[in-house]
This record gives sequence, structure tokens and C-alpha cells, in this order.
Amino acid sequence: MSDPHELTVLNPATEEVVATVPAATAEDVAAAVARAVRAQRTWALLPPADRARLLRRFADTVDTHVEELARLEVREAGHTVGNARWEAGNARDLLLYAAGGAERLLGRQIPAPGGWNVTFHEPLGVVGVIAPWNFPMPIAAWGSFPALAAGNAVVLKPAETTPLTALRLAELALEAGLPEHVFQVVPGYGRTAGRALADHPDIAKIVFTGSTRTGREVMERCARLVKPVTLELGGKSPNVVFADADLRAALDPFSFLDNSGQDCCARTRILVEDTVLEEARAVLADGLAAVVVGDPADDKTQMGPLISRRQLDRVRSYVPEGAPALRGSAPEGPGFWFPPTVLTGERPDSPAAREEIFGPVAVLLPFTGEQDAIRLANDTPYGLSGSVWTRDVGRALRVSQAVRAGNLSVNSHSSVRYWTPFGGFKQSGLGRELGPDALTAFTETKNVFISTEGPAL
Ligand code: NAD
Repeated sequence: MSDPHELTVLNPATEEVVATVPAATAEDVAAAVARAVRAQRTWALLPPADRARLLRRFADTVDTHVEELARLEVREAGHTVGNARWEAGNARDLLLYAAGGAERLLGRQIPAPGGWNVTFHEPLGVVGVIAPWNFPMPIAAWGSFPALAAGNAVVLKPAETTPLTALRLAELALEAGLPEHVFQVVPGYGRTAGRALADHPDIAKIVFTGSTRTGREVMERCARLVKPVTLELGGKSPNVVFADADLRAALDPFSFLDNSGQDCCARTRILVEDTVLEEARAVLADGLAAVVVGDPADDKTQMGPLISRRQLDRVRSYVPEGAPALRGSAPEGPGFWFPPTVLTGERPDSPAAREEIFGPVAVLLPFTGEQDAIRLANDTPYGLSGSVWTRDVGRALRVSQAVRAGNLSVNSHSSVRYWTPFGGFKQSGLGRELGPDALTAFTETKNVFISTEGPAL
């Protein structure tokens, strides 16, 4: 079955058409890659300080368009406007951080008998970035900007439902003075444009963010060309709450409702020590009832719609009519609305407790003591994120060391900072983005031995 020639972007809050965008074919992707190969040669030769200066100018340009980018994200992805402003700001801040990284991408010198070794971090060439719809702007930025700073060109394929902010970012890059074709966006379908990027021999690396199922396929395709991949995949993160915790903070509903629960780091398995289970239910019920769900363009709204009808149907399939649950409220259609929900009658091995639902739905599960908490927290094929809540420092450290996940928070639900490494254990992914090593992930290390032995006298 061939894909349509266009992408139709719907406003998830109203189901109105926001835009139609031509869908890139495999030939379009190949042409973009060929342009990128040429552009990258010059970009890589720029002195790092010049690349940094251009990226800082790009950051300034994004800064003057934060409100416009945020409003676009609200319309194409249904994000609340407050969150969308944070997302545009995150793209700007990462540009500044990556620009500094370009100036600090240093090699080493390693002495050896009769000479010296000098190591270089050389750019890979052209990097392909495949992004999902749940955080279109930040995830496009995380894959692309450190790669650009390290001297690579980037071809970015946004998700079919959310191409608009990525296209606008590419326009702003040109406005800021980045050379043509160094940062290109090819909006298109996964099975045509996405596969074409993964299969292209001149794409030196793929950064893929999306579902574990698609990530597996992308990795298989890249393996044929021995092409490195960074994979940022799904999650089913635990929120481990001990009886001595501040329950109101620990059970903040936005630990799993941020972005309507379409957040790979959402703490969707709420694990509560059995001695405080009833109190926890009461706190959660109050929290869900207070969540303001509605028009995402309104500053007072805390939670918007789901991205699509398909996603709404998926979420509904995990919450059968009459399932024991605590519930908030949500508007009726049009729009893809689902109320904040905590399922209270699930077993740890039920599909709702094990699979990534990717909507405003969590499960509440009791545990008995520290070892049981650790066992339950690790009882998942995923390992992206999680929280541990306790006033006992020793226990906080023991549990965070024992939980197999890439990004944990103690007495906090914060997951992502552009200056710290981010990525998953187990089937949540491979490799790390962001943080101090973000640029080296987009380089090859070369060692050159230089003989100091002169001609015999
Ligand atoms: P998805 O896997 O369906 O799609 C992701 C991207 O891959 C899209 O651009 C899509 O067009 C493309 N794609 C689809 N099929 C492809 C193929 N065969 N070859 C190449 N590309 C293809 O994921 P989604 O539904 O857009 O996003 C939601 C998923 O992303 C969730 O599982 C979520 O946990 C995950 N996610 C992970 C992180 C993280 O950092 N770990 C962050 C955000 C989202």
C-alpha cells in the first residue's frame, strides 16, 4: 500500500485541519541527503568558534519566536501553551549549550616511545534524526543540535502528525545564517521517508526516538550497513512511594499526566507502600479531580487532548467500562479527550500494568517493604525513568542504585535537563542524548601517531 502524497495536520483539540504538507518520497530523502553531504564538507571545516557563533545566532532567532513556535505546537500537537513555551525555550537553551560544546570538543595527546599520539573528534558526516509526535520540538532539537555543533549536517524526519514546528525551526536556522542544507527537514511517512533515511548509505548515524517496535526495525536496517544508532524508546516508569514520603508531592498527578500522559518518562506505575495505600488513594482522587482539562491554548489549562483518534482508541482499550479506577473529568468531543485515570484493580502482570499506554492512565499497585518495591519497579522490559520518594537517605540511595533505569529522581519527578545525560536501560533504548557527552556521540575518534624521530645524524 502506498502512502498518501500529503500529510494532513489536525488540531487534536478540535479535529480541524491545521495544514497539509507534501510528504517526502524516498527520492526526496535521497536528494536531501545528497545536498547535506555537500553542505557538511564546508560546515565541518568552519572553525569551532564560527560554528558556535552561528548556533548562538540561531538560538537568538528561536528566542524571538518562542511564542509563535509554542502556538504552532499547541495547534499541531494539542500541548498546553505553558508546556509548549517550555519546549521552544528548551530548543533555544540546547542550541546555546551545544554551541559551547563546539568550542570545547577537545582531543588528547598521548605520549609514546618515539613520538606522540594525538586524538581528534571528527564529525560523522550526515546524521538522520527520526522524531516522534509526542514532543516534536525538544526531540527534534536533542537529536539535531549537538550533531550540528559537532560539525555534522542533519536531515530530520518529524512524525507524520506533527511536522510544522520542525519545518519552522529549519526556516529559522536559515534566517539566523546557518548555511543552506546543513539542517534540512523531510516531513513524511515512517515506512517511506523514515526507512529511506535508515537505509541510506550516506547517512552516517540514525538518532531514532519512538516506539520500541519501530526502534527495533530501524536498528535492524542500520545493522545491515553497520550504521550506529541512538535509540530513545518506550517506557513504563515506576513511582516508588514509601510510607514516610510527602504523599501530596509524591502523588502529584502530573507525575504521569504531563502532555496528557504522552510522555516516555511518565510515572505510570504508582507503587505505594501498603501501610499508606488508603491515604494514597484519597490523595490521588483529590489530585485527579482538580486537574483542569480543556482548551490547550488557554493559559489556565493543565491538560489537553490526546494526539489522534488512533491514540484515543488505544488508550480506551486499556480502560474497560466499569474498571475499578479513580477518575478526573474531560470535555466531550470534538477533539481527542480522555479523563485523567488511575486504575486501582490491576495485577502487576496485567496489560495495563506492563504495556506503555501513552495516555493519561496510571495503575496503582501496593508493595510490602524495600525488596518488594525494587522487585516490582524492575518487573518491566523498560528502563527509562522513575522516582523514589522517602525521607530515608540510605534507602533512597539503595533503591535508586537497584532500579534499572537511565533517569531516576529522588523526591522529585523531574526527568530531563539538557545538561545531564538522558536515555534508557533495557528495551527503553540504546545510547545517551544531552549532557556533557552529547557532542562526542556525533563524532568518530581518530588517533594519529606522529613520530618525533629525526633523520639519523
Ligand atoms: P513511532 O515508533 O510510531 O514513530 C516514531 C517515528 O518513527 C515517526 O517519525 C515515524 O514516522 C517513524 N517511523 C515509523 N515507522 C518507521 C519505519 N519503519 N522506519 C523508520 N521510521 C519509522 O512512535 P510514536 O508513536 O511517534 O511515538 C511514541 C513513542 O515514542 C512512545 O513509545 C514513546 O515512549 C517513545 N518516546 C521515547 C522517548 C525517549 O526519549 N525514550 C521520547 C519520546 C517518545
